[in-house]
Amino acid sequence: MKKFIKNKEDFTCEYCGAENIGDGYTNHCSECLWSKHVDINPGDRQALESCGGLMEPVEVQAKGDTYIIKHKCQKCGHIKPNKVAKSDNFDTLLELCKVRQK
Ligand SMILES: [Zn+2]
Ligand SMILES: [Zn+2]
Repeated sequence: MKKFIKNKEDFTCEYCGAENIGDGYTNHCSECLWSKHVDINPGDRQALESCGGLMEPVEVQAKGDTYIIKHKCQKCGHIKPNKVAKSDNFDTLLELCKVRQK
């Protein structure tokens, strides 16, 4: 019998409903780039009970060839920078850049 072990990093986006396959490095949706406020420290899931708010991508910064998304929690206002993953939707990222540059 095959045992199915679910990767705990997999998640369904609560903003757009996209299925995300976690790679252990990203915690935001690769389609709409929204995140969820679950980490206090990297790998620490303590905030799950205390917050769990959706985090809006409010800003994108380019650092060399790396992009940093700033996520702002809709519930508590916490702002957290996240590295953009290779699997992220680049069109969504560019849209976000355009909006913020107006
Ligand atoms: Zn999404
Ligand atoms: Zn929060």
